[in-house]
Amino acid sequence: MKTFCGRANPTTGSMEWLEEGEDYDYHQEIARSRYADMLHDKDRNVKYYEGIRAAVSRVKGRGEKAIVLDIGTGTGLLSMMAASAGADFCYAIEVFKPMANAAVKIVEKNGFSDKIKVINKHSTEVTVGPDGDMQCRANILVTELFDTELIGEGALPTYEHAHKYLVQEGCEAVPHKATVYVQLVESRRMWSWKKLFPVHVEAEDGEKILVPPSEMENCPGVPSVCDIQLNQMPSSDFTALSDVVTMFSVDFSKPVQSASTYYRVQLEPVKSGKAQIVLSWWDIDMDPSGMINCTMAPYWVKPTSALQWRDHWMQCVYFLPREEPVLQGEKLYLTACRDQYSVWYNLQKAREGENKADEEENKADEEEHKAAVRVESPVCRCRAHLLWNRPRFGELNDQDRTRQYIKSLRKVLKTDSVCLCISDGSLLPVLAHYLGAKQVQYLVLFFRSLHFSLFFKANHLEDKIKIIEARPELLKPSHLEDKKISVLVGEPFFTTSLLPWHNLYFWYARTAVSTHLASDVTVLPQSASLHMMVVEFQDLWRIRSPCGTCEGFDVQTMDDMIKDSLNFRESKEAEPHPLWEYPCKSLSDPQEVLTFDFTKTVPQHCLSTEGSVKLLRKGKSHGAVLWMEYHLAANISVSTGLMQLSNEKGNCEWNPHCKQAVYFFSSVIESEILSDPTAVTYAINFDTKTGEIAMDFKL
Ligand code: SAH
Repeated sequence: MKTFCGRANPTTGSMEWLEEGEDYDYHQEIARSRYADMLHDKDRNVKYYEGIRAAVSRVKGRGEKAIVLDIGTGTGLLSMMAASAGADFCYAIEVFKPMANAAVKIVEKNGFSDKIKVINKHSTEVTVGPDGDMQCRANILVTELFDTELIGEGALPTYEHAHKYLVQEGCEAVPHKATVYVQLVESRRMWSWKKLFPVHVEAEDGEKILVPPSEMENCPGVPSVCDIQLNQMPSSDFTALSDVVTMFSVDFSKPVQSASTYYRVQLEPVKSGKAQIVLSWWDIDMDPSGMINCTMAPYWVKPTSALQWRDHWMQCVYFLPREEPVLQGEKLYLTACRDQYSVWYNLQKAREGENKADEEENKADEEEHKAAVRVESPVCRCRAHLLWNRPRFGELNDQDRTRQYIKSLRKVLKTDSVCLCISDGSLLPVLAHYLGAKQVQYLVLFFRSLHFSLFFKANHLEDKIKIIEARPELLKPSHLEDKKISVLVGEPFFTTSLLPWHNLYFWYARTAVSTHLASDVTVLPQSASLHMMVVEFQDLWRIRSPCGTCEGFDVQTMDDMIKDSLNFRESKEAEPHPLWEYPCKSLSDPQEVLTFDFTKTVPQHCLSTEGSVKLLRKGKSHGAVLWMEYHLAANISVSTGLMQLSNEKGNCEWNPHCKQAVYFFSSVIESEILSDPTAVTYAINFDTKTGEIAMDFKL
């Protein structure tokens, strides 16, 4: 079956209709899935295997048959472990059809077809009985249904159902238990992902301060989890205000309740400061002994020898509804609220009298607290969190970046400037106004920045900046009061951009508004350039690297499937990754490969380039990183990619607010010697009609 999917092209902005086969979503999901990453997670695999062996031998030791239920079997890995450990029979449940098919093949290839039955269903659809999917209830429950937040993939309702209908009372569960840990911290860097800090602008007539709307002060933000590679956050970027404390745990061997609830712990700050952030991670005990533990604890909590890189489980950053000054040694309550799929936090100070060891009083207080802590799941009230995502908040709070824009605006603006801004949720119109532009218009695209009005109101700018709601091609002279635009500005930033060059939409918008531009118009940025560098990743290579065998099981079918899906449409395409979280070292110099001249309209012909880069360092060339740089005005540029390169070792510092494009080479090139430098040749083509960049690399 074929379907047509409509979408606005992120680069050109034009509506296009794509014919999608029904396999399209499957391939997308597999190509970008975390299956490979899980199979590469040695620590996880080894511990699951140990836990499964222990559970099977406990059941066998009781003289029972070992009947395993493996919910979300994926490749069938955990069922094969159970069968190898001596389980009598395994029911391997997998809802995702292509994976269930792969599991059947993998199980067969490894010779377990008589011991493992793959069932392509959601676990809640599975039936038990003589004619059912399962002959009888299982006495071993094995699952791996966890995400970084533990419960985000629906583990709780799945367990709740399984205990009611699919497993015996007193069953063994692998993992046996999960525990969630938290630590209260102060961090300007992480807080800048949730709050807009005041922006200071030195204007002709004194300093102007751009303030966030009051609605933003106590806004709880959005409920979506903020999961990051916390191990890449240097200790200088946060201050721990509390010890690590256990927040809550879930025993998977007993009936699990998924209904909303909350957990409360008492905290005593080890340091005074501003409580802003709750860092959180979990660990799982594979068996009741507690000896087989798999932990996501960050580097400052565990020895480096226990560090296992993984991308499918990271750590969480939770933002408190508001910043709370806390004193060392004072009594605080931290509450974790959860529904079936997500967790959020709240901090309260103990009130007067609570420090007394008066049991009765404490009890009454406890009840009072219970009522007080039933906090609603965070829903953004100020609308800014709907307009800006977390990296965008970080970018807008980046003072160095703002300074570059102010400096360049100052260069190009005159008192009679008629200014038009094209960018999503941008502060540029405000900066342009403060810096003295006579007339500032802000072209709001597709209603994306509608929520911006609150912000203008807070700064008394409603009548200073005119918001035009129109697509660039529908802009009329009347929108501009029949004036020609003398300064066209953009960051450029668009919420629809996934890959760095999608922000070239600015160029297309600029082309669409051409007739409204004065003959001597200044366009800021005046141009953009695409840059490229060959790198060796410390770890990220794993997500695209074949597994072959995993703990002795042949999972090559999975590798082939991922390869097929990558070739389905994704081949010759780069993928976005925030590289501050994924360290790499440069093997070549950074190279400018294409330039885009915003002072002119988008040309009809393609822009293409060919060349080669020398590999300067010993290492494995996993791929190329690509990013955009914007040339705002003479000698003022901002980079959305590489910020700094330390040359001896090739360590890279990446823009922490942007995703860069990563193009993984199909085979890894190993360069050993410097005396005979190898070169990588490239061909890069920007199709101005489709806005797509195609690339090819060869050794
Ligand atoms: N067990 C495998 C794969 C884990 S990934 C391993 O450890 O390597 C989790 C898998 O569970 C995914 O393939 C997902 O499609 C599946 N899944 C999640 N919830 C499920 C449910 N309730 N019933 C059936 N499959 C489920």
